[in-house]
Amino acid sequence: MNKKIWLSNPHMGGGEMKYIEQAFAENWIAPLGPNVNGLEHDIQKFLEEDIHVAALSSGTAAIHLALVLLDVEAGDYVICQSLTFSASANPIVYLGAHPIFVDSEQDTWNLCPNAVEDAIKFGISKGKKPKAIIAVSLYGMPYKADEINELSKRYDIPVIEDSAEALGSTYKGQKCGTFGDLGVLSFNGNKIITTSGGGALILKHKEFKKKAVFLSTQAKDDAPHYEHTKIGYNYRMSNICAGIGRGQMEVLLERVNQRRANHQFYKELFQDHLGFTLHEEPNSGYYSNHWLSIVRLHPKAGITKSQLIQKFAKENIESRPIWKPMHLQPVFKTAPHFGSNLSEKLFNNGLCLPSGSNLTDDDRERIKLVFDEIIQ
Ligand SMILES: *Cc1c(COP(=O)(O)O)cnc(C)c1O
Repeated sequence: MNKKIWLSNPHMGGGEMKYIEQAFAENWIAPLGPNVNGLEHDIQKFLEEDIHVAALSSGTAAIHLALVLLDVEAGDYVICQSLTFSASANPIVYLGAHPIFVDSEQDTWNLCPNAVEDAIKFGISKGKKPKAIIAVSLYGMPYKADEINELSKRYDIPVIEDSAEALGSTYKGQKCGTFGDLGVLSFNGNKIITTSGGGALILKHKEFKKKAVFLSTQAKDDAPHYEHTKIGYNYRMSNICAGIGRGQMEVLLERVNQRRANHQFYKELFQDHLGFTLHEEPNSGYYSNHWLSIVRLHPKAGITKSQLIQKFAKENIESRPIWKPMHLQPVFKTAPHFGSNLSEKLFNNGLCLPSGSNLTDDDRERIKLVFDEIIQ
């Protein structure tokens, strides 16, 4: 059997072990230490903005804490992109709040600004203005941040930017992670860089960072004994994981270039084939890290999405349908939904192609062979 080609798997840079060995040498085997502070500093430097970073145990934890920091409570409404991974929406439910799902627009597949406004008006009509907007830069493609931020200002509703998939992407030259009132990153094993499991919250004020760290370390008040005036969480990143992250930050730009090269490979592969359309940046204002490359299959492709998945599987190559929209998930079936049915159409014919930064020329040749049989 040929070696397995994964959709997106961890890709170590080589520098990780020196940070981990240092942690062992100094016995910093805890959810605090020099690597945690170092990783926060590295991310802050990379994002080049006047921001603060809190390293956490996952991207999901970061979204949960973002909602807590915005005082989201039971019964509140929170607007969330429908076409996304469930982790964008689940923390809304952890708090007993209710998601309102908003569908995609054509260009980026992210939040449709008109539908966001409809969702806001719906909340207001129920006497409950939504407490937050969770905007996702899906597959690394930045969302329409100008339009979303305009709505956020006009209605005074903060934005939680879920850039779990978009570290290294930019919109009009500004880095993803810095657009929302709060930004979320993920370092799960399949993301553009990984700490094995981990995430970060990007904050605009020092006070917010202090609060995030306080809440993520069990909300221990300043007292000689354990005193709690708030409910806390155990969400801080471990110093070992942060060591992996420090090594990964050294190669982040390389990883972005490698993923973008995969996208370019697919672009050339599907050129002149009307049956396949690759998800691309709508204009030069968008710079995607192309975390995953996505192709839509049209009737002219002569093969369905599931047939293609099977065909890949036979060659030991992993591919996957795109995220199933949240408003179509059984668990969210009673949640309100605004906008078109574009996300459903994308789910029906969209396929995630192998996109790891460690794809080799041989891997790409094997992928090309599968398509050569289909595309004549
Ligand atoms: C991966 C991901 C998350 C969650 O991050 P974890 O670190 O896995 O908890 C959230 N949102 C999106 C869009 C993601 O892809």
